[in-house]
Amino acid sequence: MSTHVVLVTGGAGFIGSHLCLRLFDEGHHVICLDNYFTGRRENFGERHSELMLSGRFEFVRHDVVEPIILEADRIFHLACPASPVHYQYNPVKTIKTNVVGTYHMMGLAKRTKARILLASTSEVYGDPSVHPQPETYWGNVNPIGVRSCYDEGKRVAETLAMDYHRQHKVDIRIARIFNTYGPNMATNDGRVMSNFICQALQGQPATIYGEGNQTRSFCYVSDLIDGFCRLMEADTTGPVNLGNDTEITILELVETIGKVMGKPMEIIHKPLPQDDPTRRRPDLTLARKLLNYEPKVSLQEGLGRTIEYLARILDEQANAAEPN
Ligand code: NAD
Ligand code: UDP
Repeated sequence: MSTHVVLVTGGAGFIGSHLCLRLFDEGHHVICLDNYFTGRRENFGERHSELMLSGRFEFVRHDVVEPIILEADRIFHLACPASPVHYQYNPVKTIKTNVVGTYHMMGLAKRTKARILLASTSEVYGDPSVHPQPETYWGNVNPIGVRSCYDEGKRVAETLAMDYHRQHKVDIRIARIFNTYGPNMATNDGRVMSNFICQALQGQPATIYGEGNQTRSFCYVSDLIDGFCRLMEADTTGPVNLGNDTEITILELVETIGKVMGKPMEIIHKPLPQDDPTRRRPDLTLARKLLNYEPKVSLQEGLGRTIEYLARILDEQANAAEPN
């Protein structure tokens, strides 16, 4: 296998940190670029010093909203907060990250002739009227709602990628990622997985937004990374869905977490956020056909590993907060 100089934007985040380690372990030279808005160097845990000493792992503190000159022959462009709480914190910045940031990364790919993979999202389908969602579905997105900075931002990012491909022959890949979870999710990121698991670990009730009948399809992070690497090396340009197609309601998620932890969770209901999609499940036909992709980690198994990780982080946070 040939090795590459691989730039990973958003490389210190949840998905980015797993991707950087996978690429490093495959022998590539990895440039991890991040502005540390939601990412942390601690996501590399005990591997950090090994990476630093290796001579083929670099951290670059940079904001993709500003241009940068770097040399690479593969780019995974992930920089963008993914949790609704984080991307709605500064919506104008989220749009700039998705639009201006992607514009800069497409320009970098054009200059260096690097192949670039854009981390897009199932949110481009909005609150879908087609179910499950195939790549051919154009979506049902509110252009002026509170989620639009992210949904529409990613839709423009996809447009930019396709136009750089058609106009400048940039070698692009587009991954439409569906809800992904696993170790390195932040305890405070507000997404349903980290919220429910942290609540369960702290003996608090699960905060269900609305009735809990909305559905999602949760993909364990190692399966997503496998799909990413397959897509980067595949001979295709248009968007490809990546995720897990086992669909459950949010109420069922609470029950499953209770079962895995051996103690049923109490529930409290909170208002449903604006434009919250009612159902979501990837149609994985294309990924299976083009990439021979198959998610392997069951929800029970993935939950076990994620619970173990978040329990350790909550312990560390509690110990750090204790007076000496
Ligand atoms: P994350 O918030 O953990 O990671 C995002 C990373 O990007 C962080 O390290 C953050 O500091 C960095 N970042 C944000 N803005 C930046 C900027 N302007 N310049 C440089 N770095 C910046 O989220 P994640 O879950 O790891 O998501 C990674 C990518 O995958 C995002 O593009 C997201 O839209 C996409 N995605 C994730 C999911 C999911 O379920 N996790 C679903 C769909 C799409
Ligand atoms: N959700 C919930 N309780 C929480 C956090 C989220 O019921 O504490 C719901 C949320 O309304 C949505 C689903 O869980 O219907 C997934 O939310 P998340 O923020 O994880 O991802 P997204 O909505 O972007 O898929």
